[in-house]
Formats: sequence, structure tokens, C-alpha cells
Amino acid sequence: PVVLGIESSCDETGAGIVRDGKLLGHAVASSMEEHARFGGVVPEIAARAHVHAMRPVVEEALSQAGLKLRDVDAVAVTSGPGLAGALQVGVAAAKGYAFALDVPLYGVHHLAGHVAADTLEHGPLPNPCMVLIVSGGHTSLLLVRDLVKDPILHLGDTLDDAAGECFDKVARVFGLPYPGGPAIDRAARDGDPKAVHFPRPLTGPRDDRHAFSFSGLKTAAARWAEQHRAAGSELPVADGAASLQEAVADVLTRKAVSACLEHGVDTLVVVGGVAANSRVRSLAQLRCEKAGITLRVPPLRLCTDNGAMIAAVGDLLVRSGAEPATLDLAVDPSAPLEYAALKPYPLPA
Ligand code: ATP
Ligand code: MG
Ligand code: FE
Repeated sequence: PVVLGIESSCDETGAGIVRDGKLLGHAVASSMEEHARFGGVVPEIAARAHVHAMRPVVEEALSQAGLKLRDVDAVAVTSGPGLAGALQVGVAAAKGYAFALDVPLYGVHHLAGHVAADTLEHGPLPNPCMVLIVSGGHTSLLLVRDLVKDPILHLGDTLDDAAGECFDKVARVFGLPYPGGPAIDRAARDGDPKAVHFPRPLTGPRDDRHAFSFSGLKTAAARWAEQHRAAGSELPVADGAASLQEAVADVLTRKAVSACLEHGVDTLVVVGGVAANSRVRSLAQLRCEKAGITLRVPPLRLCTDNGAMIAAVGDLLVRSGAEPATLDLAVDPSAPLEYAALKPYPLPA
């Protein structure tokens, strides 16, 4: 089937076309620059930007695929989690396309999309596989059996900040541009990862093996910056960035690899915006090789939010014979990740 995927949970408007597991075209528009002067995503601005970007993005994805709207066999859309107003724009558009084309509609969990992104580059996921989701809002270790059929098992989540949030907030303290994650990655290239020893939270023998915590790391980085400023010395930003990145990558990859070994799973999939981080990628590769684990990480352009990953889930849902949603499909801003497809009917109030 030809599946149109639509994503609008945060500040990226994405559309993708997937046919039988193959990516045919995708386009992303971002309102990131409009949020930069506020230092974070402004929901109302994001929602309005989605309204403007939606049609052009869908048309661009179709044109890359060399297809017309009438070729679309199903529509999948992120219906949660995310910003309510932003999600509404994508869901409304998806309903319009599905109704006009008289094709099935699927509500997709945004994080299942991040996981499925990898299948567009590396083919079907092995069952089971260990998934490390590291993004702006989430840091979780998941045991995934069949992504669209079985419930997803949460081994652990972050107890406070997400890894991406930690990068974004520390970047601000370091005076780096928004968005912080990519800025830290760039700054770290010229720095020494051993310059500052930042803590490795929740890696002690008595700590929860699968839980994460990044707020203490954020505070430690802020304190380090303050001490430098109080001493009147210039902040060695590159060293701070490299050391922070090393601490985050160390914790993430160490826990992910030991979760694989503990559960006897031989494939680790690292997904989400922070999977774009160069040190997370290289350290994961190194440690997986040592442990005899196959590592899968989506290409950079599919790590951050996009519509192709939502189309990928939709394609799997169609092919597995899943029941579509109705035009009553509601957004669920705080949807827990249990199933890849969100409930076809609105949840009772
Ligand atoms: P979620 O998926 O949890 O709802 P989100 O959609 O906002 O959150 P993503 O788009 O998946 O998150 O990822 C964005 C996050 O990834 C931001 O925190 C950003 O700073 C981070 N990020 C992107 N590229 C890099 C990089 N190279 N290094 C570190 N962090 C990065
Ligand atoms: Mg974003
Ligand atoms: Fe995301």
C-alpha cells in the first residue's frame, strides 16, 4: 500500500510516503527559527506554522515520490503525545485527506514512529529488539516484540529530564544557540571530553539498572559554568560541551548495552533526536561491537521528527490488518507508549 504519514506533534511539520517498507518521499518544514528568540517551542506559534506548512509539505513528499494524492491508499498521523494544538492540525489534515480519498486513517504514537524510522533504512526490526529512545521529551529503554502487534515493554524511563532536554538546557547556560543539542555536538568537536568529570547518574550498583536521570547532570554543568564566571575566567565551552556529551553518551550506551545482555537481546536500536548525536552514535557502536550486539541507528535525517517515520508505522499497521481509526480520532497529548497505534476512538473524558 501507499501510505501518507503526517507528523505535527512539536515544531516540525512532516509528511512522508512509504510503500511496502520503502521510503518514496518525505519533506519536513520547521518553525524552529520562530521559537529561537523565546528559547523554547511556543505552542501557539507551532500550531499556526503547521497550518501554513501542511499542504506544501504533503505536496512535496508526493512529488518526490512521483505520485498523486489519488495514489494514496491509507493515511497515518501522529495523534499523540505532543502539544495539543500542534497535534490537532496534523490530525485535522489527516482526517481531511482520508475522508476525501475514502481511505483508512490510523492514529500513531509519535515514539513508535521514532522506532519505525529505522526500518526505512535497515529493513524490518528483528523480534525482539532493545530500543533506546532518546529525544527532547523522552529517555526510555523499551523491549519491543512486534512493533504493531504486541504491547511495548517499558524497562525504564527517565525520572526527571530527558537527555535532549539536558542538552538543550545546558546549551543555554553555556551561551550556545538554540536548539541546544546540535550546538553542543558541534562545540564538542573542539573540546576535551576528559576536561571536566561530570557525574554518571544512576550507574551505581544499587541504582535502578534501567532508569535514567539527567537533571543532576544539568545542575552540575550549570554549577561548573557559574564557578568559571565567578572566577572571572572565560568559559571553556568546547571542553564543557565535550565533557557533558561524554557523560550523557556514557550513561545511555552503558545502560542500553547491559539491558541487551541482561535480557538476551542481540539487537539494539537507538532512535529519537539525540540518536543524531555523534558521540552517542560512536560510543554505542564501540560498546555494541565489544558485546557482540548488532547496533541499528537511523540516518541523521530520520532521527529528528519527520512524517516518513509515521508513514512507516502506518504501512506496518495496514499490512498487519490493524483496525483503522474513525473520523472521531482524538489527539492524546500525553499518550503512554503501550501500542504503536493509538486507540481508534476518543477516550472517555
Ligand atoms: P519527543 O520525540 O520526545 O516528543 P521531540 O520530538 O521534541 O521529543 P526529537 O525531535 O525526537 O524530540 O528530538 C529533538 C531533541 O534532539 C532536542 O532535544 C535536540 O536538542 C536533540 N538533538 C538533535 N540533534 C542532536 C545532536 N546532534 N546531539 C544532541 N542532541 C540532539
Ligand atoms: Mg523539533
Ligand atoms: Fe520526536
